[in-house]
Amino acid sequence: MADAKPTPRPKPFSIPRQPMPEQPPEVRRSNFREVPFGLTPDLAILEATRCIQCKNPACVKGCPVNIKIPEFIDLVRQGKFVEAARKIKEDNTLPAVCGRVCPQEEQCEMPCVLSKRGEPVAIGRLERFVADFERVTGNVVVPGVDPPTGKRVAVVGSGPAGLTVAGDLVQKGHDVTIFEALHKPGGVLMYGIPEFRLPKDIVQAEVDYICSLGARLECDVVIGKTITIDELLEEEGFHACFIGTGAGLPYFMNIPGENLIGIYSANEYLTRSNLMKAYLFPEADTPLYRGKHVAVVGGGNVAMDAARTALRMGAEKVYVVYRRSKKEMPARIEEIHHAEEEGIEFHLLTNPVRFLGNDEAWVTEIECQKMELGEPDASGRRRPVPVKGSEFRLPVDTVVMSIGNGANPLVPATTPGLDTNKWGNILADQETGKTSKKGVFAGGDIVIGAATVILAMGAGRKAADAMHEYLKTGVW
Ligand SMILES: Cc1cc2nc3c(=O)[nH]c(=O)nc-3n(C[C@H](O)[C@H](O)[C@H](O)COP(=O)(O)OP(=O)(O)OC[C@H]3O[C@@H](n4cnc5c(N)ncnc54)[C@H](O)[C@@H]3O)c2cc1C
Ligand code: SF4
Repeated sequence: MADAKPTPRPKPFSIPRQPMPEQPPEVRRSNFREVPFGLTPDLAILEATRCIQCKNPACVKGCPVNIKIPEFIDLVRQGKFVEAARKIKEDNTLPAVCGRVCPQEEQCEMPCVLSKRGEPVAIGRLERFVADFERVTGNVVVPGVDPPTGKRVAVVGSGPAGLTVAGDLVQKGHDVTIFEALHKPGGVLMYGIPEFRLPKDIVQAEVDYICSLGARLECDVVIGKTITIDELLEEEGFHACFIGTGAGLPYFMNIPGENLIGIYSANEYLTRSNLMKAYLFPEADTPLYRGKHVAVVGGGNVAMDAARTALRMGAEKVYVVYRRSKKEMPARIEEIHHAEEEGIEFHLLTNPVRFLGNDEAWVTEIECQKMELGEPDASGRRRPVPVKGSEFRLPVDTVVMSIGNGANPLVPATTPGLDTNKWGNILADQETGKTSKKGVFAGGDIVIGAATVILAMGAGRKAADAMHEYLKTGVW
């Protein structure tokens, strides 16, 4: 679209950052629809005019995949929304996803020069706007692919890492098959992040796009059980393999009472809700207990998603129990803000020490202990230290443990010669994704541990380049 009139450049800093219209908290707390409505074309153009087109743009350096940010924003300013989306896609194949879930406040927006005297350009909101515009106006074009190379690639896992590898390699003419353990593709984008933050039709559209390029998708195939990596390479005729199986193994605190009924891992809680659509029960088959007093233990995005899901499932009270202060919470600022607005209660500097239950072994209370912050630990964050005699009890009927996830162990355990570190993450070269096993590459959360969508995609892109080189030359 080139018809909208370009807005003349204003004086720097004269226009405030444009807010994104969204559902009011009292409405959205009882529905699963997406919270923000997105920018309108007029708001997007106005926001884009705030960018001063830096010669040496700090925002680009802050982006893990170095999107050409000033260039796409200038196209938005000119009303060339489809062109802007295509500019982003030169470096990022999933802009509708990243525009919604990337922690822009720590990446591209943090170093934006406008932050020095006000608020940064809303780069994420603009990214989301142009990606949505391209999709809903039917302007997504399927690029041509290179002639067939005769090389077959197996991609294990259909999260952002696997999808990126598949998309890149199929365009280079390789014959790509994605194997996914679940019945739906998309990884955490499909089973973890809730609908109200990332609508599933957007994830499905991204998967469909990659399939339209020519990648094949086989769901319900658990690599390591249905078939092994060695069998793919030695018997099924694949020339290379990418492992992007993610970090889906939930951690627990290992404190008394943790196996009481009503205590879920965030993984199970969110998978039931998102993938199995438990919030539509009984129309959907899978149930999820609709707790009235729900505590979520943890302070990351996963914890915010679980807490806000519990609220939408009808809870009267939802608590987030986190052992450090708000400043140390790993969740995105926007997610914490949305959770607060919706009425989630935060018990900060608080740690569970045991769970108590009734005669039917159903959880009824959490015994918590107050904490204070001591010296920084290995992560650089101040270590929480228990305050003696500060114990108190929180009445609950449901608890969601959201204290982190480890590497999925199945593929490493069934692949001889594939080296891992002490946490079970696959050892792979940061620049190429090459593992200790010839022809096998890996990237995303299975290598670096639970991280972000954009880092998984960045790893996928680097691995795809290295795999292409390997498939061409055979040199390991
Ligand atoms: C609830 C939640 C909220 C999050 N919110 C954000 C956010 O707001 N912003 C952000 O940037 N990041 C967020 N993240 C993190 C982000 O989603 C992950 O870092 C990212 O998805 C990792 O991508 P991946 O491709 O490495 O793995 P995944 O997305 O985990 O995908 C791995 C896929 O491999 C499949 N698989 C596993 N084992 C096998 C096997 N043996 N055979 C076949 N398939 C297999 C899995 O079923 C899965 O589909 C969130 C994570 C969670 C859980
Ligand atoms: S740093 Fe900010 S103002 Fe400068 S080019 Fe990037 S988005 Fe625009």
